[in-house]
Amino acid sequence: MTDRTTIAAISTPMGTGGVGIIRLSGENAAEIADKIFTAFSGKKLSDSEGYKAHYGRVFENGKPVDEAICLVFRAPHSYTGENVVEINCHGGIFITKKILRLTLENGASPALPGEFTKRAFLNGKLDLSKAESVMSLISAQGEQGANAAYNLLEGSLSRKIEEINSVLLSSAAHIAAWTDYPDDEIMEVDTDELYNDLLNTDSELSKLINRFDSGMAVTTGVDAAIVGKPNVGKSTLMNLLTGFDRSIVTSIAGTTRDVVEETVNLNGCILRLSDTAGMHDTGDEVEKIGVKRSRTKLERSAVVFAVFDVSEELTDEDFELINLCKGKNVIPIVNKTDLIKRADISIIEKLLGKCIEISAKDGTGYDTLCEKVAELVGTKDFDTTAAMLANERQLICCKTAHENISEAIQAIQTCLTLDAVGVCIDGAISALLELTGKKASEAVVDEVFKKFCVGK
Ligand code: GDP
Repeated sequence: MTDRTTIAAISTPMGTGGVGIIRLSGENAAEIADKIFTAFSGKKLSDSEGYKAHYGRVFENGKPVDEAICLVFRAPHSYTGENVVEINCHGGIFITKKILRLTLENGASPALPGEFTKRAFLNGKLDLSKAESVMSLISAQGEQGANAAYNLLEGSLSRKIEEINSVLLSSAAHIAAWTDYPDDEIMEVDTDELYNDLLNTDSELSKLINRFDSGMAVTTGVDAAIVGKPNVGKSTLMNLLTGFDRSIVTSIAGTTRDVVEETVNLNGCILRLSDTAGMHDTGDEVEKIGVKRSRTKLERSAVVFAVFDVSEELTDEDFELINLCKGKNVIPIVNKTDLIKRADISIIEKLLGKCIEISAKDGTGYDTLCEKVAELVGTKDFDTTAAMLANERQLICCKTAHENISEAIQAIQTCLTLDAVGVCIDGAISALLELTGKKASEAVVDEVFKKFCVGK
């Protein structure tokens, strides 16, 4: 059953700005707002139709505290599907908090994180994958990411999943009818047709799974680590990529002792970049901890920038780094190309692939590096209008559905009974229904909305 209490929260960021919004949602949203707001027209918000704006003043104990515009929405025509009032006041931290407090003193309850969107989901205004795209849109760091998240909100993924599921549902229903009622005059299941449908589904699900990493790279970003021995120019590269002096640059080895992190947008590819401590043997206890952290970052990052100094011959430390990078998504970078070249680049290239030559100091090679990143992460020519998975939860559901479809295909190939094929298809349908939230447990739904901010 839907919760009928009226909730309230500040929906704009906690800071000073032109406008601040306090949002109320629930049965008595307008009645509560009426207790603290009087329109200059004298009209009560509780008598107002939906989609109307009212200009007036907010009062505390009969004393005006701010001028405001109240927007009234009537259930079910609102974001949450309930009665909603949005109080648009001046955007000061003190005044927005004060007006929120007044709503709470007059009968509203404080909204939990994501509660407005959760109510929208429970009232059937949007499915779970669309609700999650709201979060992607809020946290989008660049143009491509915002476009992709907007298209998710418009239903690019929901439509794709619905399309896949409707094919699966009709196959499952036909198989169930055929196997459960053999005596009835039900048309025989055409195994060739079923097989082709399953192959198509397999390919559609694979596409979604394969696009996941590049989708993450344009929306929320992927982890990337700059690694290398001391003094090769890691911090200078970090500063080149962030566009400001984020890391301290000196010629003294061991200056960066801990991981320095910053999010950067390289032509639409979002990287959560870490400049790490130089990797080398050291007796210094503090440096040792830094080196250990560098290794952990290298292991856990989706993209690794392995930096070498071209002005010096390669050392054992460089070869150790090459070994650690094997099997990773690595971009070997030879830095200081403005100096005389002494390192044998061909050795690095043999082991890690084509090197990108740069001078982090003067910016040479920056564009080539950005292109290489986009190519590696798959953000080059990323189609933001196509369906994509927005988070790990959706990826897990999609992978489960994919595994079930692969098993169904195998079952047909090995001539198992249609019953067995039907069980696999049912498994895939369940996983996809969990993805859109149509069959998600309460615990899953709670988990999704817990990650939202208060006021959303
Ligand atoms: P890190 O220890 O790997 O982070 O290296 P830094 O970024 O602190 O740089 C070490 C030294 O190399 C500093 O003196 C930098 O100015 C210098 N350096 C870094 N990149 C370049 C480059 O591309 N060309 C030249 N000539 N010097 C560089």
